[in-house]
Amino acid sequence: MAIVEPIGEIAVTPAVEVKAAVARARMAQAAWGALKFADRARVMEKARTILMREQERFIEVIRRETGRSHFETLMMEIFPALDSLTYYAKHAEKFLTDKRPGMHLLRTKKLLVTYKPLGVVGIITPWNGPFILALNPTVQALMAGNAVIVKPSEVTPLSGELVGELFREAGLPENVFQCVLGDGETGAALVGAGVDKISFTGSVATGRKVGEACGRALVPCTLELGGKDAMIVCDDADLERAAGGAVFGGFFNAGQFCCGTERVYVHDAIFDAFVARVVEKTRALRQGTEGEYDVGRMIWPRQLDVIERHMADAIAKGARVLCGGNRNGGFYEPTVLVDVTHEMSIMTEETFGPILPIVRVASDDVAIEMANDSIYGLSGTVWSKDEARAIAIARRLETGSVCINESSITYGACEAPFGGRKQSGVGQVNGEVGLRGYCHAMPIVIDRFGTKEEHVWYPYTADKERTLQKVIRWVWGTPLGKWMS
Ligand code: NAD
Repeated sequence: MAIVEPIGEIAVTPAVEVKAAVARARMAQAAWGALKFADRARVMEKARTILMREQERFIEVIRRETGRSHFETLMMEIFPALDSLTYYAKHAEKFLTDKRPGMHLLRTKKLLVTYKPLGVVGIITPWNGPFILALNPTVQALMAGNAVIVKPSEVTPLSGELVGELFREAGLPENVFQCVLGDGETGAALVGAGVDKISFTGSVATGRKVGEACGRALVPCTLELGGKDAMIVCDDADLERAAGGAVFGGFFNAGQFCCGTERVYVHDAIFDAFVARVVEKTRALRQGTEGEYDVGRMIWPRQLDVIERHMADAIAKGARVLCGGNRNGGFYEPTVLVDVTHEMSIMTEETFGPILPIVRVASDDVAIEMANDSIYGLSGTVWSKDEARAIAIARRLETGSVCINESSITYGACEAPFGGRKQSGVGQVNGEVGLRGYCHAMPIVIDRFGTKEEHVWYPYTADKERTLQKVIRWVWGTPLGKWMS
């Protein structure tokens, strides 16, 4: 029997159809982009009402594709989707309404900054959060007035299509949202189909290809890529909470979470007690597919090969398995490892599975140095009862975001700009920054007084140059000038 049974077939969208979809989207965008924010917000609110009412139908489809527990699907897909629909419907107007910043120097002019939709946005998504990772950027792009084309992962296409179903029922005008289906070929076709922005979420290897293609076409893009997030546990951490956070951070979504805890650095003084609690909590986890359980199967069986390769390498180099360590059909047991080093791929490459390697460290400095010793920089967590100490550590981490005494929840905090550093990504999504990323901020400079001419216009004369020199001396050479400029 196969590890994961197929649940259906999809028709792949040919490249020529992808181009046609972009053309249809461009036609539809003009009217959608011209609507008032309140009109666009009404569609989001209607979608929220439908999602609340019909959540079981959505959960059912997502669970069939991912094997996740009902609770986890509700928590990581439906809950943040409802929040995203509400937050951007409520705040888009405030973030994107015309701004009139005062002019600090050119006081004879006025400045108006207007946020214009980019046009057609292509959104390419992975399989590990197949509904929310398609819905959240879609909501932002739509509220900014764009049309959207989503290319969901070929592993979980039906969950991506749910986004289209939701907006269709909510009354979104035809072709403002479309889905194209297929694998990397369809994704590449979308990148090259004349879209105005690509919002990509996926692996570093594919992100690099997408970034290169966007560079060639001069299409702006955001790249939300993989990670190897570190957890730092200080000697004054609340042991119970930190151990619970490690287990949740490591095994949430069976470890298939971009901001999952993939490495743990624990202060020497509490190492043994911390590890004992983590092992106890890990052993209590229930794996399954039916009824109440905590950890589901691997969504994409190919990921099991990566896990097995990392585990074999770690064990060959001296790592000790304290619990778990076995593959069981489409599952991998939640696993705790110690005696791991940065010579092992399990500490340097993204594993994306339920493996928690724990390292003993002598000080905060060593923990920070080891956490930063990575090609990745997506997120990370710090655990200490001393907030100032934890913030000081957070500031020194080379990551896109940090959570303190909490596992990585930044993506779920709408207000927080989210994005990776180093190889974990380019650009930021979410919140005000993310919403503006779906717009062109267009400055319009307006003359205020309507004089017949400007001092710097032709003809250039020695007299005009002397006056300009006087202005320079006054503006940047006197206290009043410096204060005013
Ligand atoms: P992937 O890179 O294999 O695929 C992602 C998407 O890109 C899929 O839809 C795929 O069909 C498409 N694609 C493949 N080749 C393409 C090409 N040449 N041009 C355009 N599109 C192409 O990633 P995956 O295995 O689906 O997802 C897992 C990865 O995603 C992990 O590395 C994980 O860390 C990362 N991820 C990152 C975030 C984040 O916010 N930073 C969130 C979730 C997942």
